[in-house]
Amino acid sequence: MLDQTIKEQLTAITGEERFSDTHEQRVVYSYDATPGFQSEPDGVIRPASVQEVQQIINVCREHRIPVIPRGSGTNLCAGTVPSQGGIVMVFTHMNQILEVDKENLTMTVQPGVITLDITKRAEAEGLFYPPDPSSMKISTIAGNINENSGGLRGLKYGVTKDYVLGLEAVLANGEVIRTGGKLAKDTAGYDFTKLLTGAEGTLGIVTEAILKLVPKPETKQTALALFHNMEQAAESVSAIIADKIIPATLEFVDQPTLQAVEDFAQIGLPVEAGAVLLMEQDGEPEVVQRHMEAMQQICKEHGAISVRLAQNEEEAAALTEARRSALTALARRRPTTLLEDATVPRSKLAEMVRFIEETAAAYEVEICTFGHAGDGNLHPTCMTDVRDHAEMERVEEAFAAIFAKAVDLGGTITGEHGVGEMKSPYLEWKLGHAGVEAMKAVKQALDPDNILNPGKIFAKDTKKRIVLGGGSRG
Ligand SMILES: Cc1cc2nc3c(=O)[nH]c(=O)nc-3n(C[C@H](O)[C@H](O)[C@H](O)COP(=O)(O)OP(=O)(O)OC[C@H]3O[C@@H](n4cnc5c(N)ncnc54)[C@H](O)[C@@H]3O)c2cc1C
Repeated sequence: MLDQTIKEQLTAITGEERFSDTHEQRVVYSYDATPGFQSEPDGVIRPASVQEVQQIINVCREHRIPVIPRGSGTNLCAGTVPSQGGIVMVFTHMNQILEVDKENLTMTVQPGVITLDITKRAEAEGLFYPPDPSSMKISTIAGNINENSGGLRGLKYGVTKDYVLGLEAVLANGEVIRTGGKLAKDTAGYDFTKLLTGAEGTLGIVTEAILKLVPKPETKQTALALFHNMEQAAESVSAIIADKIIPATLEFVDQPTLQAVEDFAQIGLPVEAGAVLLMEQDGEPEVVQRHMEAMQQICKEHGAISVRLAQNEEEAAALTEARRSALTALARRRPTTLLEDATVPRSKLAEMVRFIEETAAAYEVEICTFGHAGDGNLHPTCMTDVRDHAEMERVEEAFAAIFAKAVDLGGTITGEHGVGEMKSPYLEWKLGHAGVEAMKAVKQALDPDNILNPGKIFAKDTKKRIVLGGGSRG
C-alpha cells in the first residue's frame, strides 16, 4: 500500500481524478489477457503528457516503487501483471494521432492510440500501416511497440519494429530521450529505437512514436485452400516460398480450430477439411493474378482438396476476420485457454506441426494449432482448466517440450507475444547464459533500481530442460 505522502506527491501531478488506489481499480489492473497470473498493484495512474510521465517516474524512483506501463492489457505473456506491486501507468489520456506527414510518409502518435485507428487513418490518407495483430481493435500502439507485435501481414511486410522510425521515451532516471526520427537513414550511435522496441516496458516509458507508412497496395485477392491434413498445408507453405512468392498473408488453421471458428462466426467455413490455408496477395493487378494462380497450382500439387477464391471484398474480409477470431472462438470451449507462439524456420513447419500433434497426444491434452504459417509462427493453443492441477502440470510439460523442440529446430520460444513473466523461465533456452547476462547488463545500466516493469523478461530461475536420452541442461 502507498503511504499518504506518496499519494499526495502523485495526485499533485495528475489530480485526484487520474490517480486511484481503490480496491476495484487494483483488482481491475491485477491481471491481463494471460491466464493464471494475478497480482494487485498499489495504485493506477493516468498521465496526460510526457512531463507528467517524467514527474511520476521521479516520484517512483525516489521511493523505489515499480511502474508497470500498460496499454490495453491484451498481452499473452503476463507482461503487465504487477507481480511486485507498484503503480500501473495507463495511457488512455495520451491517445491522439498527432500528425500524418505525407511528404515523409510518417505518422506521429501518442502511446495510447488504438492500432486499428492508425490503420484507418492511414487508409483515409491513401496510405498503409501494415502491422495488424489480431487484437488490433483493442491493442494500443505502445503495447504493439513494446511486444514488437506481428500480424497476418508479417510475411511480406514485417512486424511492428519494421515501422517504428523514432521514439520519445522517459527513462528510469527521469530523463526524456528521442531516438531516430522521420528518417530513412540514421547511424548516429546505438540504435535505441530498436532496443526500446520489444523491451516490454522494462527500459523506458514510450510517450510518442513516429511510424513509417507505405503506399496502399493497388489491389488484393484472397483465397482459401482446403487440405486433408496439416502436413499437406505446411508443405504447400514451404513450396510457395521456395517458388519465390511472398504472399501478403499465408495463415493456417487446423480442423478443430476451423470448427470452433465456424461455430463462432457462422460464415459457412468448410469444417470437413483437415486443415486450411488462408492466402492473400496484394500489389499490382497482374502480379497478384499471377501469384494467386501459382499458389493455387502449388496447393493442388500438394494434395489440396480444393482452392476457393473469394469472389468479392466482403467475402475476403469475412475469411480474414474469421482467422483473426481464432483465439476468441477457441476460448469459448473450456474455462482456460493458453495460447503459445513457438516459432521455427518455415522450412521446419511440417516437422513442428507433427511434433505438436504427437506431444498433445503423449501428454493427453487438447491442443489446436493455427498461426502465421508463412512466418513459421505457430499458435499451439491449449483448452484446459486452471482448477485442474493435474491437467495443468501436463499442459506445462507439453508446452515445455514444444519450446524445446522449437529451439532445437533453430526457432524461438516466442515469435511475437514477448517473454513477460510467463516465458521468462525459458529465455535462457533460446539465448544461452551469456545472452541473458548481456541483456541483464543493459537493463542494469538503464534501470539500476529495477523500477520499470520488474519481474518481466528475466526469471529468478531458468526451467530445467529435459533432453532426450536423460539428463538436463539449461
Ligand atoms: C485475442 C487476441 C489476439 C491477439 N493477436 C495477436 C497477434 O495477432 N499478434 C501479436 O503479436 N499479438 C497478438 N496478441 C497479443 C497482444 O494483443 C499484443 O501483444 C499487443 O501488442 C498488446 O497491446 P496492448 O495495448 O494490450 O499492450 P499491453 O498488453 O497493455 O502491454 C504490452 C507490453 O507493453 C508494455 N507497454 C505498454 N505501454 C507502454 C508504454 N507506453 N511504454 C512502455 N511500455 C509499454 C507493457 O508494460 C507490456 O510489457 C493478441 C492478444 C489477444 C488477446
